[in-house]
Amino acid sequence: MSSKNTSENESVDESALETARRQLHRAATHVDVEQGVIERLSHPTRVVEVSVPLRRDDGRVEVFTGYRAQHDDVRGPYKGGLRYHPHVTAAECTGLAMWMTWKCAVMDLPFGGAKGGIAVDVKDLSADEKERLTRRFAEELRDVVGPKQDVPAPDMGTDTQTMAWFMDAYSMQHGELTPGVVTGKPPVIGGSYGREEAPGRSVAIVAREAANYFDRPLNGASIAIQGFGSVGANAARLLDEWGANIVAVSDVNGGIYDPEGLDTQAIPSHKEKPEGVTRHRKATQVTNDELLELDVDILIPAAVGNVITAENAEQIQADIIVEGANGPTTTSGDEILDNRGIPVIPDILANAGGVTVSYFEWLQDINRRKWSKERVNKELEEAMLTAWRDIEAVVDEKSLTWRDATYVVALRRIGEAKETRGLWP
Ligand code: NAD
Repeated sequence: MSSKNTSENESVDESALETARRQLHRAATHVDVEQGVIERLSHPTRVVEVSVPLRRDDGRVEVFTGYRAQHDDVRGPYKGGLRYHPHVTAAECTGLAMWMTWKCAVMDLPFGGAKGGIAVDVKDLSADEKERLTRRFAEELRDVVGPKQDVPAPDMGTDTQTMAWFMDAYSMQHGELTPGVVTGKPPVIGGSYGREEAPGRSVAIVAREAANYFDRPLNGASIAIQGFGSVGANAARLLDEWGANIVAVSDVNGGIYDPEGLDTQAIPSHKEKPEGVTRHRKATQVTNDELLELDVDILIPAAVGNVITAENAEQIQADIIVEGANGPTTTSGDEILDNRGIPVIPDILANAGGVTVSYFEWLQDINRRKWSKERVNKELEEAMLTAWRDIEAVVDEKSLTWRDATYVVALRRIGEAKETRGLWP
């Protein structure tokens, strides 16, 4: 995720690729893994670039550039989202693909990491144009994706319908229904119950475990959440249900704060009424910057990347931070929080419920057997607790930050798999 400079201290604009490589080399200092493995993991297996021609509704033909970066598949098929956004580049896809490799390994899923997308502004596309673009993109990627090769999912600018078109195009070309080629589909065509809520659910589970670990029982704990979309609203409502006190939430326009606690069901999520948070008048209005600096037990940035920086990290008053969004804390922000003793539970663990339930969806597709929502949620709970305990053990054993410990768990698994399989020839 590239960012604009936020302060003089933050002199380097950190791209997803730089972040992913830096985390790899940082983790490598704590893991006994061959240098050759680290070298291999510093590079993607391949980055495919394709031209995607689109006949616009007015008859003109325009050509867009699409990418699929496949980072590593030592533990299983590549896995990761497809985003439609004007800023999609090969480098960004490669960095985000690396993040997916670590995320899948942390959750011990039999997947590697990938990311792709098209450099296009979806706001400029009609629904028909988006469908034609997606079908042609599926055709262009046909040789490199598949249930046993690489399994895309929704990301920025794409959704369950996009995945339905992609799956339909791929299945027609293959001459057989192949639901396992993508995840994040509507349940009626092989999607999983509970997939949409899963990232928010995992954030809530991890926040609960963090509260227990730091001796701050969730019951009555005060929580501020930035972003009231899929991740933020689902996490907020679950935590509310589990007895926490959600004191502040926000959307892109700003936030609301009530130290007595907000009624999270009454505030519309992004999906229910986009940007409706500040129209909920029964609370004090706060800015997004003020929300981040509230004196709460747990802060959950769940909107966008790079919001906790060298500029505001000194002012953060929360006792624990749980990253709901991808990359909400910059490197310099992270260092300041570490020096101040504020633990940051990283994104690649906290929001990994999404890819975990994607794995459940893939299993259901391959086995042609649907799971109930109860089963999905139960298995997600177990998967999150196992990952939490694996990381907790490294934190306790090596006195690392939660972020470093999480990368250590991931790198150990990937490194062992690579060393055991060896390098051929
Ligand atoms: P969403 O579009 O459903 O909701 C985003 C929310 O953040 C909205 O309330 C929006 O108003 C708010 N927002 C947008 N820009 C903001 C800003 N600059 N400041 C404050 N609020 C802002 O998105 P989502 O799916 O909930 O994703 C949120 C984050 O979580 C992203 O970083 C995303 O990459 C990450 N994530 C999402 C999933 C998923 O499957 N939904 C999985 C893993 C990670």
